[in-house]
This record gives sequence, C-alpha cells and structure tokens, in this order.
Amino acid sequence: MGVDERAVVEERIGSLLASHPPETTDEQRFWGAQFDAGLAWVQHPEGLGGLGVSPRWQALVDERIVPAGGSIRNPRDNVIGIGMGAGTIVTHGTDAHQERFLRPMFTMEEIWCQLFSEPGAGSDLAALSTAAVREGDTWIVNGQKVWTTLGHLARWGLLVVRTDPQVPKHAGLTYFILDMEADGVDVRPLYQITGEAEFNEVYLTDVVVADDLRLGDVGQGWTVAMTTLMNERVAIGGSVTPRGSGAIGEAVSIWQERHGPEGDPLSCDRLVQLWAEAEALRLTTIRAKEAATSGTPGPEGSTAKLQWAELNKRITSFTVDLLGAEGLTYPGGYRFVRPTGSADRDGAPHRRYLRARANSIEGGTSEIMKNILGERVLGLPGEPRVDKDKPWREVPRS
Ligand SMILES: Cc1cc2nc3c(=O)[nH]c(=O)nc-3n(C[C@H](O)[C@H](O)[C@H](O)COP(=O)(O)OP(=O)(O)OC[C@H]3O[C@@H](n4cnc5c(N)ncnc54)[C@H](O)[C@@H]3O)c2cc1C
Repeated sequence: MGVDERAVVEERIGSLLASHPPETTDEQRFWGAQFDAGLAWVQHPEGLGGLGVSPRWQALVDERIVPAGGSIRNPRDNVIGIGMGAGTIVTHGTDAHQERFLRPMFTMEEIWCQLFSEPGAGSDLAALSTAAVREGDTWIVNGQKVWTTLGHLARWGLLVVRTDPQVPKHAGLTYFILDMEADGVDVRPLYQITGEAEFNEVYLTDVVVADDLRLGDVGQGWTVAMTTLMNERVAIGGSVTPRGSGAIGEAVSIWQERHGPEGDPLSCDRLVQLWAEAEALRLTTIRAKEAATSGTPGPEGSTAKLQWAELNKRITSFTVDLLGAEGLTYPGGYRFVRPTGSADRDGAPHRRYLRARANSIEGGTSEIMKNILGERVLGLPGEPRVDKDKPWREVPRS
C-alpha cells in the first residue's frame, strides 16, 4: 500500500512540476495547481486538495517542490487556515463549504483566524460566553474573543459560540465560519512581550451570521472544535525540520562564533544536551508522522506540542545566555509593529527568546497537554470536573 501511495504522489509531483515550472509560474497560480493536483494536503480526499493517502507523503511533496524553485509558503501566513481550518472543513463542512473555502485558503488568497479564546475561557474553552441567538435563517452573535492571531488580516474566522445556556457547557456550543468583514466585527491589536502585535481582541456586536455558515449541527460545536484543536497541536508541534536546523542550529552557530572550537566546556555540555534532545524530538516527530493516518489527529499530537514548547523555551534561553551582556539589550526596541515573518523562526535571538515564552501557552498550555496525555494516553484518572453536568447558566463565573 505504502509503495503504491508513493508512486501516485511521485507521479502527481512530476506532472505538476512539468505543467507549472515553479521558477516561471506565479506563486499563487502554482499553489492553485498544487491544490488541483491533490498535493496541497495529501491526506485529504481527492477533489479537496488531497489524494486520500497517508499524511507522511506531504514531506515528499515539499522535498521535491523546493529544489525545483517552488516556495513553501511561510506557514505563518495562513497557519490557522492551512494548519487547522482545512482539517475542520474537510471533516465537518458541507460540500458547499469545501468547494467555497478550501482552495483560496491553500493559495492564501483568504487568510483565516481562530475565534475560540475569551477573557473568561482559555484552557476551559467550553466555558465560553459569546452568544448566538437564532433569528430565522441567521444567528445574531454578541461577545468578545481574545488572543486572535492574524485577526487583523483574516477574511474568515473559525468561531465557537454558545447557542444554548440551559444545558451543560459542552452541549450548548455551536461552530460557525465568521465573515470578518461583517458589520459589528471590531478587531483591536494586543501587544505582546516582544513589542509586536501578532494577535488581537475581537468584539462582536450584533453580528449577523447565516445559518449556512454553520459547521456541524447546532449543539455539536465542541466536537467540531476538538477537530480544530487536534489539528492545531499537530500544526504547532509537528513540523519536521532538517537535522540541526531551527533554534538549535542558531544556538550552535552562536556558540561557535562566541566560543570557537576550544570553547567553554560547561556551555558546550549544555549545548550538546539540548542538541540531543532536539534530535530526539525530531526523530519522534518523524516516527509519529510515519504512523499517522488521515482523519482527525489523535491525542499523540499533544506529546510533540508539549515537548517542542518546553524545549524551544530552553534552547532560546540558552542562546541568549551565550550572548552575554548583549543578551540584555533588545535590538529594534519595543515600538509597536505587526510582525511580518514567522512568529517563532525570525528575528534576533532576543526576540525569539521572548516569543518562545508563548509556546507553552498557545494551542493549549503545557499543563493542559499533560492533563490530556495523562488521561487520554496513559489512562490516569481524570481531574475533578464539578461543573460538567450543570446547566452552563447555573455555573458561577466572574
Ligand atoms: C501567541 C498566542 C497566540 C494565540 N492565538 C490564539 C488564537 O488565534 N485564537 C484563540 O482562540 N486563542 C489563541 N491563543 C489563546 C490560547 O489558546 C490560550 O491563551 C490558552 O488556551 C490558555 O488560556 P488562558 O490564556 O485563558 O489561560 P488560563 O486557562 O486562564 O490558564 C492560566 C494558567 O492556569 C493553568 N491551568 C488552567 N487550567 C488548568 C488545569 N485544568 N490543570 C492545570 N493547569 C491549569 C494554565 O496552564 C495556565 O498556566 C493564543 C495564545 C498565545 C499565547
């Protein structure tokens, strides 16, 4: 089966590169052709940008396209659409949703954001209060979302709202696609520790959402949101980079620059330990990808997310230590800017160190990843959930 899948993917890549040579094809046209060839996200069904094969073959697509002059999108540019929205729409969307949204998402003509977190609902997402009330074929939405990455650039949002406050919290949620250009959607920047604003708070006031933009049934929002979150963990922690590249590669080159071949043995020891951990994580991620099947990713995505977040924080911290007194400065200052590059990979080591603090918060905190792994992978007893069966409106909240 594996051999056949590889042959199919190889054949499609060959035809794509022959019909649309990347060096002479406009990027967006190339991505459109890549989608049509089923090479956008190979694990999804044919006709929806995929080939219905194991997701492990996606790496092969990227490996072939880049040397041929093609560009792999900066995933930061549409990480929520491509990393999380696509899987959600493929799994829960209607034919009309899939036809309308998937291709421009992949070609990045339309950027997406995720409207899940609220001031009173982060780790406990199911506690959210943004409400939608039905009026005929539409819903009227009121509330506030927060930490909305890319909200200022997004054309569409993945929105979870409360449609029934009378039932327990998980049962009263419904999931919609939100038109970010609709009246009543107000996006305001939020500053981060880096001085940048990659995310926002979003106020929703009497926003009218058509019922045909609903993903899943009324009251099934939690199930749909789980698909998004499982994909998010894989998107954040599951990318495979070449050996010794990324944050650990930067640490190695700064160590060589600052300490030379005879360098300080203590920092060398720390560097080698971090390098070994980075390599172990890289190999574990490759193994997980090899084993992955199409469909909603399982709780294993939490392993890579947890490991990656904690390791990235330690590597970037070590890198700033290597800079000595220079590590205390902050090139560029704290002037407000909207970031243009990759959230994690670009900028000076100081910026990457500060940005890495968010790694163990975004996409679910490390504590929550441990809870998931404990309960769903190791089978340990669940933590007490006193509000689980109470109607949401009876649960005390501040
Ligand atoms: C850079 C960045 C980008 C983000 N982008 C988005 C986005 O685009 N869209 C979106 O909707 N959200 C986004 N978020 C929000 C993110 O999902 C939440 O911050 C996260 O889920 C934590 O929620 P919270 O901030 O409300 O913290 P809380 O849930 O209040 O947690 C506070 C602390 O308590 C701990 N804690 C909470 N519950 C438990 C428990 N049961 N067991 C053990 N410890 C617990 C947490 O681990 C944490 O340390 C982003 C966050 C960051 C940092």
